[in-house]
Amino acid sequence: MDYGQIFEIIGRHHRFYADSLPMIASENITSKFVRRCYVSDLGHRYAEGKVGERYYQGCTFIDEIESIAISLTKELFEAEHANVQPISGVVANTAAFFALTKPGDRVMALSVPCGGHISHDTVSSAGIRGLRVSYYPFDNEAFEIDIDETRKLAMKEKPRLFILGSSLILFPQPVEEISEIANEIGARVVYDASHVLGLIAGRKFQQPMREGADVMTGSTHKTFFGPQRAVILSTGELADDIDRAVFPGVVSNHHLNTLAGYAISAIEMKLFGEDYADQVVRNAKRLAERLSELGVNVVGENRGFTESHQVAADVREFGGGAKVAEKLESAGIVLNKNLLPWDTLKDTANPSGIRMGVQELTRLGMKEGEMEEIAGIIHGVMTDRISAEKARERVRELKSEFSTIKYTFEEHPAYEFPDLC
Ligand SMILES: *Cc1c(COP(=O)(O)O)cnc(C)c1O
Repeated sequence: MDYGQIFEIIGRHHRFYADSLPMIASENITSKFVRRCYVSDLGHRYAEGKVGERYYQGCTFIDEIESIAISLTKELFEAEHANVQPISGVVANTAAFFALTKPGDRVMALSVPCGGHISHDTVSSAGIRGLRVSYYPFDNEAFEIDIDETRKLAMKEKPRLFILGSSLILFPQPVEEISEIANEIGARVVYDASHVLGLIAGRKFQQPMREGADVMTGSTHKTFFGPQRAVILSTGELADDIDRAVFPGVVSNHHLNTLAGYAISAIEMKLFGEDYADQVVRNAKRLAERLSELGVNVVGENRGFTESHQVAADVREFGGGAKVAEKLESAGIVLNKNLLPWDTLKDTANPSGIRMGVQELTRLGMKEGEMEEIAGIIHGVMTDRISAEKARERVRELKSEFSTIKYTFEEHPAYEFPDLC
């Protein structure tokens, strides 16, 4: 094998993304200020434990960086306590479940077809903690948790924890109503804000901690501007339990290069988050409306399609989610097939839907006009009115006009990565 190939392959990955439309709802692109931290010396160091209580020497400046990250996070989310050490969303959820439950406890979560994340289920974090999982009764038409049925089920099963937040998340969820039920039975509420953390920071989505959640977890790289890691917010009362569950529970060292990148992304969020989140939601709405006007079956029509960065469509009439997602990839539009509430887990390989996210395109400066054009290309490819080659050309042209990063200290090229060879 020619080991040099690996560098060439990484270069091809960069070139593919430079002229494609990234629409995976769980991704984003970081500014050069955040990105530079990845290659800093911080990525070579260890800092186990808390600020001021480390096990190794050499942590003076790391302590300062982590303190800044913690105080910015508390401000952004108006939380009494923040832990910025989890290295991913699943790690954050695992820590939250260890802090809030005991093995054998019952929790209530959204099923995966209704948008829930695998970590809320027994195949992942919830299972690792030995939890038993019940699913919220869900109203497919309204695309919402059915509160009356949930209350009945909760009174019968007495879960110890209610998990809210999801991976397919088009609308705010009933945090206040669920918190009321939780209070009545002495349970807690955790809101997993992985997808919408940047929209919450930008004050354009629900504010779960204010609405009654005890804990909020979230990945920092989906709608937020950070590298791939996560945060946990909580009430002051739960601070020690959360911190102990994170370290020594689920991390030892916690990747100090991306910690520094996260601190910078939190500053970007403070300064530019509101404008960005506003444009994200506008773009998602416009994309959904235009697709619907063109005849695509966009989910959530009677609630205005979306209030987040996501748009979901039922594409069974065009061959199902798997076929549509593959066709769009060959046109340079990268999104994912997605289960919808009327699917079962058996449909995972070819679900009814596709899920689109506009957060990264927004970071690159796209607005409503571009969303209309993209809706046209997606519809054209799905219906075979435009060939994949023709669509690929249009995608290249459109993308060439949007290759700088906005909503940061100074606009700069998006696709300049360190040369590896
Ligand atoms: C993406 C996601 C996660 C997992 O986050 P990672 O950072 O990929 O580990 C957890 N919960 C929800 C709701 C998600 O969408």
